[in-house]
Amino acid sequence: MLEITVFGASDSVGKSCLMISDKDHHVIIDAGIQLHPRKTRMLSTPPEGVDVFAPELTALLLSHAHIDHSAYIPALYRAGYKGLTYMTTPTRDILQILWKDHLKIEGPHHYGVSDMHKAQSKISIHKYNKKFKIADGITAEFYNASHILGSSSILIDWEGTRIFYSGDFNNAKTPFHDPMVYPDPDNPIDILLIETTNADRQIASRKVVTSDLTKSLLKCYARGGKAIIPSFALGRSQEIQAYLMNDFDSFLHKFPLYVDGMILEMNEIYRKYLTRDWVSQRILLELKDKGLTSPFDHDGIHSIDEISPHGKRIKKREMLSHNQKSHIALTTSGMLEGGPVYDYLRYHAGSKLNGLYVVGYQVEGTVGHQIVSGDTDLVLDDGFGDVFEVQLNLEIKQFEFSGHASLEGLLEMVRYTHPKKIIALHGEPSAQQTFSESAMDNGYETSILVTREYLPEYP
Ligand SMILES: [Zn+2]
Ligand SMILES: [Zn+2]
Repeated sequence: MLEITVFGASDSVGKSCLMISDKDHHVIIDAGIQLHPRKTRMLSTPPEGVDVFAPELTALLLSHAHIDHSAYIPALYRAGYKGLTYMTTPTRDILQILWKDHLKIEGPHHYGVSDMHKAQSKISIHKYNKKFKIADGITAEFYNASHILGSSSILIDWEGTRIFYSGDFNNAKTPFHDPMVYPDPDNPIDILLIETTNADRQIASRKVVTSDLTKSLLKCYARGGKAIIPSFALGRSQEIQAYLMNDFDSFLHKFPLYVDGMILEMNEIYRKYLTRDWVSQRILLELKDKGLTSPFDHDGIHSIDEISPHGKRIKKREMLSHNQKSHIALTTSGMLEGGPVYDYLRYHAGSKLNGLYVVGYQVEGTVGHQIVSGDTDLVLDDGFGDVFEVQLNLEIKQFEFSGHASLEGLLEMVRYTHPKKIIALHGEPSAQQTFSESAMDNGYETSILVTREYLPEYP
């Protein structure tokens, strides 16, 4: 008899954490936190009620590095967990940066430096499509979820009961990844735990979105402007660089791209894993064709540190911005909740010639949401004591890139895995409802749990 308990992300996006248990074992999948918009001044929220289980856990499985799935892991070691955390190899490298960064921003709210080191020393790394044992009678296997580098869906075989956890996944072709490949359809899944982020959102195809972005950049160049692209450090930023390498190739020499912020550190991790084990054959062939080892080596793509070898980056931004030549700045943070993008706004927001091109979903309450909703008079607070007013006169556009599957993609996963039971997770209630109704139309019954609710007695 298996029980499934959800500690977070049961009816929202953020603090993903759930536990599968029988009388002998408790296995946790993901342990993330919920971040809040800066203006609320709230510290992040942990998953509810998982700590008490920490000392008796058998294993911890992590789908991917994003903070809303991973940042509570060191806290579980603080709460007494002594076992291993299983993840893919790139995920381990990304966490070295993300956990430390989270600690710097929020202080020892959930965990301290020693808890982080303890968690890092207990990581067990794995490749895709290689089954491994986590306890007697229980195995796990990572599948490429095509969401970010190293992201996975997880297949668990628990004494013959097959459970598939989608994690965050994408069924669309993106520069570094082919669409998701599902487990063997002839061997159906018993329980499918599936994300539903985009179930009630229309997502334009990547082709349309990238061609719209390219058109806006060309127009910005033609009017002599400078372009700012605020972006998430991990995944989206590397994708944008790969698109520009392909679609904007020769133009990048006239309208060069400067990369700033944590994106540079993430680029180095991507560079390390540009092999057939982790990325698509497609990107490797494109790179070979261009004689490049990574998109970041394109001679129209530069690091902010190339401006000058010495000194603080804030000074280099000023030097770049005062340079009359048109350029594009790709920088954090993706939802404009602080980061180097504030320096670029300080210099470029006032001129109509310039453009701010937002390349991701903006959560309500964030500065990015405020901007795409039409607010032009802003007070920006970088969180480290720099507060200033800015008026946005530059062109503002949003491009709907998404790392999550559309409703069709969710239903495709259901059809391929052909589950006896579905549990919807990681989505707003309206998205879960839309997914649940569509799954029902296809003959599948879906459970929508609330946090700390058990799904007992299965099978
Ligand atoms: Zn994610
Ligand atoms: Zn997520």
